[in-house]
Amino acid sequence: MSETVLYETRGPVAVVTMNRPAVRNAQNAVMTFALDAAFTRALQDDAVGVIVLAGSGDHFSAGHDIGTPERDIHKSFARVSTMWWEHEGKPGAENLFVREQELYLGMCRRWREMPKPVVAMVQGACVAGGLMLAWTCDLIIASDDAFFADPVMKMGIPGVEYFAHPYVMSPRQAKEFLFLGERMPAAEAHRIGMINRVVPRASLEAETLGVATRIAAMPRFGLALAKKAINQAEDRMGLRDTMDATFALHHVAHAHNAMTSTDHLAGQDAKSMAKGLK
Ligand code: ZN
Repeated sequence: MSETVLYETRGPVAVVTMNRPAVRNAQNAVMTFALDAAFTRALQDDAVGVIVLAGSGDHFSAGHDIGTPERDIHKSFARVSTMWWEHEGKPGAENLFVREQELYLGMCRRWREMPKPVVAMVQGACVAGGLMLAWTCDLIIASDDAFFADPVMKMGIPGVEYFAHPYVMSPRQAKEFLFLGERMPAAEAHRIGMINRVVPRASLEAETLGVATRIAAMPRFGLALAKKAINQAEDRMGLRDTMDATFALHHVAHAHNAMTSTDHLAGQDAKSMAKGLK
């Protein structure tokens, strides 16, 4: 397995760690497929009851890779979550639509449906694409220095690809979150019910592993059924349909950007995105 993602077991808990700390665990395609391989390994191991998703270094994840030397948006890869054809070399909106269907929406939905419980362990930045990863998890435990943001309005985009915003917070809060793109501190995320617990940074790992280990003591199949029950309820509340509908709007925004600026991200990069946002 690539060292972009680390895998270890602590008793009945598999800890899957994003490992690009120098770039705040920016997620490229290599990392996405390494995460998928790590989750698959944990699912197939009967000794593993619960999975913890973590990020190495000071931040959980700053989001999708939009500018490191290892950015790999034009590279082809075998499909895992969809039956779409290769995006590489395809013209116009087709290229990005196909790529993001597989890599972002498809993969996140696939991971949300993992039958074993997954706990996100979040410190520092949990931004945009990082938010998507945390939201696919069943529980989110954060340190008091963690913050959450989806600042893609700066690119003129109505939210990240995995559009769970009006389900993980109220619709009115979701509008403020999207319109302003500002950071939501862990304490506020906890107050509105978006995350389960906030603990001091020094006890984040012990708290997360403690919760994960206690869940892992419960019956495996029962946990899978409980997870499915809640996920089905969210889907009946419209989560899945909302994501499909919003994915189309997301790609109108990408196409509009490509037609009116230098690229599908409205010419923004990691540096310009960080500028001027609270
Ligand atoms: Zn996109």
